[in-house]
Amino acid sequence: MSDCLFCKIIAGDIPSQKVYEDADMLAFKDIRPSAPVHILLIPKKHIASLQDLSSDDAALMGKLMLAVPKIAYDNGLSNGFKTQINTGVGGGQEVFHLHIHIMGRPS
Ligand code: 5GP
Ligand code: ZN
Repeated sequence: MSDCLFCKIIAGDIPSQKVYEDADMLAFKDIRPSAPVHILLIPKKHIASLQDLSSDDAALMGKLMLAVPKIAYDNGLSNGFKTQINTGVGGGQEVFHLHIHIMGRPS
């Protein structure tokens, strides 16, 4: 999606502080952190929101969820963390490329 901010981050057209990347996903630091550690985990596939998932995305979403605790642990959140997925205008979503907020304070 050429006009999507997070697709531009995936493409490297907009810089980001990457903390994890593989063939399916990218994790990077939120530019306006609301916690000492605030990471965004996104699929490389452009999916606008949870409301736009199809059954084809089940395995991909499973991979993302399995990566969450590993990324949290690797960034100092071994004692636990919060996750948040804002969905749609009513859910406060600002960037319409599905993302999981991973937030916490290193222990
Ligand atoms: P949303 O409200 O859509 O769930 O969250 C979007 C998040 O993206 C916000 O926490 C915001 O700070 C973050 N964000 C917006 N633009 C950029 C950017 O250019 N780079 C990074 N790293 N984060 C961004
Ligand atoms: Zn996108």
